[in-house]
Amino acid sequence: MNQDALVRFASTLRGSALDAENPEYERARRVWNGAIDRRPALIVSCVGVADVMDAVRFARAEGLGVSVRGGGHHVAGSSTIEGGLVVDLSLMRAVRVDPATARVRCEGGAQIGDLDREAQAFGLAVPLGVVSETGVAGLALAGGLGWQRRKQGLSCDNLVSADVVTADGRLVHASAEENGDLLWALRGGGWDMGVVVSFEFQAHPVGPEVFMTFVTYPRAEGRSVLQRFREYMKSAPPGAAPLAVCWTFPEADSFPRAVWGQPFVGVVGPYVGPVAEGERAQRPLQQLGTALTDMSGPQPWVAAQRFFDEDYPKGRRYYWRSTYLHELGDEAIDAILDLVDRRPSPLSSLDVWPLGGAIAGIGAAESPCGHRDAPFAIGIEANWDDPGGDEANIAWARAVSERMTPFSTGGSYMNFEDPDDRKATAASYGASLQRLLDVKKRYDPEGLFRSRRGLVGAPPSPAR
Ligand SMILES: Cc1cc2nc3c(=O)[nH]c(=O)nc-3n(C[C@H](O)[C@H](O)[C@H](O)COP(=O)(O)OP(=O)(O)OC[C@H]3O[C@@H](n4cnc5c(N)ncnc54)[C@H](O)[C@@H]3O)c2cc1C
Repeated sequence: MNQDALVRFASTLRGSALDAENPEYERARRVWNGAIDRRPALIVSCVGVADVMDAVRFARAEGLGVSVRGGGHHVAGSSTIEGGLVVDLSLMRAVRVDPATARVRCEGGAQIGDLDREAQAFGLAVPLGVVSETGVAGLALAGGLGWQRRKQGLSCDNLVSADVVTADGRLVHASAEENGDLLWALRGGGWDMGVVVSFEFQAHPVGPEVFMTFVTYPRAEGRSVLQRFREYMKSAPPGAAPLAVCWTFPEADSFPRAVWGQPFVGVVGPYVGPVAEGERAQRPLQQLGTALTDMSGPQPWVAAQRFFDEDYPKGRRYYWRSTYLHELGDEAIDAILDLVDRRPSPLSSLDVWPLGGAIAGIGAAESPCGHRDAPFAIGIEANWDDPGGDEANIAWARAVSERMTPFSTGGSYMNFEDPDDRKATAASYGASLQRLLDVKKRYDPEGLFRSRRGLVGAPPSPAR
C-alpha cells in the first residue's frame, strides 16, 4: 500500500482507516465467529456514503480486494478479507420508517434489532431473521429466513430498492425502474455486487404482542415429535413458521435444573397474526409428545425476535452448513436424530426450518434465491468453545451435510452455507447462476468485491 496515498485518503474520511499499526486494529478485525482469524490490509470504518465511495476508489487504486462488513455475522467470516480492504459499515445503522407506505429504509450496517425497534413504534415489522444482532445487509442480500417467512416472504422478497456504491466508486440506485438487473441480483444473490449503503424494505403490520410457542420434548420421543411436526406443517396457516430444534438444554436458569444437559427436540416460534388466533393455530405444537417444558404464551414481538440472542455469543467458534430437503421423510428424520446424537459439542444443533407459503410464490424472474419449492431446510450448526475442537466439530458438520444428500434438493441456503464452496453456490442458484454472473460482470467487471469466492472462483483466503 502506498503510504502517502493512505495518509491522503485517511485525512478525507469522516470515519477512520485502520491498518495493523493502529491500536484499534485488533478489535476491528474480529468478526462474530471467534474461529475466523483474518488480517485485512486496511479496515475503513465508514460513517457516510462519501467514505464508502472513497474507500472503494482507494482499494481499486491500490489493487486491494474488497469485502463489506454489515453485521459481521456470517459464519464463514465473509465480511473480512485476508490482505484486502474491509468497508466496515458497522457505524452506519440509521433507520427511517414511513408509516404511510409501511416502507422502512436503513443504512447498510443496520442490525435486525435496529429495524424492529423503529418499525414496531408504528406496529410494523420487516421480515428479517431470528437473532437481533444479525446484520440486515448480509441477511437480506442472500435471502433472509425469519418468523414472517411463510406469510410475508424472505427478507430479499421485501426489498423494494437500494442505493449501491459500485466498483467504480459511483452511487447507483437499484429499483424496478432503474438498474432492475442489479435489484434482481440483490434480492438473494447480492453479496459482492457493490456496497449497499441504503436499503428500502416493505414492512407489514405485526404485533405488538404475538403468541409465542416454545415447547420441548425428550430426545427419546424425537422421531414421533418430528413426524407430527411434519404433519402439522402440511396444513399450517402461513402465520405459523416454527422451527424444530434438536439440541441440548443449556445450564440456564430459564430451564429447570432437572433438564440441564439433556438432549431435546424443541419447537419454537411466534405466530404472525392476532394472539388468540396464534394460540389456537399453534396449540397442536404443544401436543406433539410428552412436554418436558412449555413456556408458550403471549409476548412482545421484539422479545420473540430476541429469543435466541443469548445462545449465540460473539467470539464462540462456529461452522455452519445447510441443505434444502425435498421432503421430511421418516428416513431423513432418522438421519437427523442419529447425526445430532453424534455431535462432538452439546452447543451444536440441527434445526428444521419449514418453508412454503409466501416463499414458494416468488419465481426466478424476481429473485435468484432458488429452491423455493423445498418444504423444509436443515440448518447444520456446529458451535463450540475450545479451539482444540475445531477439527472434530467441522468434520461433524461436513458429515451431516454429506449424509443429508439423498434427502436434499441439491441446494443449500447461502446464509448458512460456506460461500467459498463453488459447488454449493452453483447448486443453490441453479439456472439463475449465469444471470447473476452477468450482473456481477456488468457492475464489477474487474472482480473488486471478493468476499464470496464460491461465486466467481477467486483464490480462497488462506486463513479461515
Ligand atoms: C447468530 C446468527 C443467527 C442467524 N439467524 C439467521 C436467521 O434467522 N435467518 C437467516 O436467514 N439467517 C440467519 N443467520 C445468517 C445470516 O443471515 C448471515 O450470517 C448474514 O450474512 C449476516 O449478515 P451480516 O450483515 O451480519 O453479514 P456480514 O458477515 O457482515 O456479511 C456477509 C456477506 O454480506 C456482504 N455484505 C454485508 N453487508 C453488505 C452491504 N451493506 N453491502 C454489500 N454487501 C454486504 C459481505 O461482504 C459478506 O459477503 C444468522 C447468523 C448468525 C450468526
